[in-house]
Amino acid sequence: MQWEGGEESSNVEDRRGMGTPLAIGGGIGGVVLLILGLIFGVDFGGGQPAVQNPGQAPPANDKTRHFVAVVTRYTEEVWTDEFAKKENEYGVRYHPPEVVLFSQAVDTGCGRAPSAVGPFYCPEDEKVYLDPTFFDELERKLGGSKAEFSQAYVIAHEVGHHVQKLLGYNRRVGAHDNQASVRLELMADYLAGVWANHGQQKFHFIEPGDVEAALNSARAIGDDRLQKRSGSFVHPENFTHGTSRQRVYFFQRGLKTGDAKKRTLDKFFNSPIHRNGEIEDF
Ligand SMILES: [Zn+2]
Repeated sequence: MQWEGGEESSNVEDRRGMGTPLAIGGGIGGVVLLILGLIFGVDFGGGQPAVQNPGQAPPANDKTRHFVAVVTRYTEEVWTDEFAKKENEYGVRYHPPEVVLFSQAVDTGCGRAPSAVGPFYCPEDEKVYLDPTFFDELERKLGGSKAEFSQAYVIAHEVGHHVQKLLGYNRRVGAHDNQASVRLELMADYLAGVWANHGQQKFHFIEPGDVEAALNSARAIGDDRLQKRSGSFVHPENFTHGTSRQRVYFFQRGLKTGDAKKRTLDKFFNSPIHRNGEIEDF
């Protein structure tokens, strides 16, 4: 994947190395957060993200943070554009989610999460949470530069959940509606594909072999594996993601068509899932 030299997003917050987070509510907790923030020079209020701290350049070798910020920027460019073009269909403007890097565990608007749950999106606070050691795993599996597009795909999938939230699909899914949850997961893969389609036209970041590697990683992070990782923690990613075959199919379909028409997404959301777990073509 070609990304180096790309513009960075200002919506990346780096909470790595903050130690084991405290279980913090409001009130006194807020004060503790603020104090921690002062000590570590990190703004928890979501104002000035650490990645943009002007007085203190990030370490030159912090490739992960740089990479995440550039890919996040790519998602912002594509979705801001898409929402603007489809303002009449969508009825809302795009505002980007914040991407939070953490290590070990993190307190979120959806509860406290250990990194074992893998990357996830919390609709309550509209943030994507990511422990980059998850990326290291992909790298070990796929090897260095081949893993980059797969890593971008993971971010794009989570941003896809944010797009769903803005378009109101999350609201229509009950906590125990497993079929609808599968559809949301597969739609997030589809939206990641749509993002890659438009991003490629704009930024030409896909290199030969990238798509194949991303498809391999989609297979590698299929539902069974994620279920095992996530244990009993309850959050959207805990729902089944659909079979690996379905994930690959819908990512490819989004990549091929780039079609994010509201009508198409509605059809996707309403298509029945058969007993064998296959989603009906929409
Ligand atoms: Zn997901």
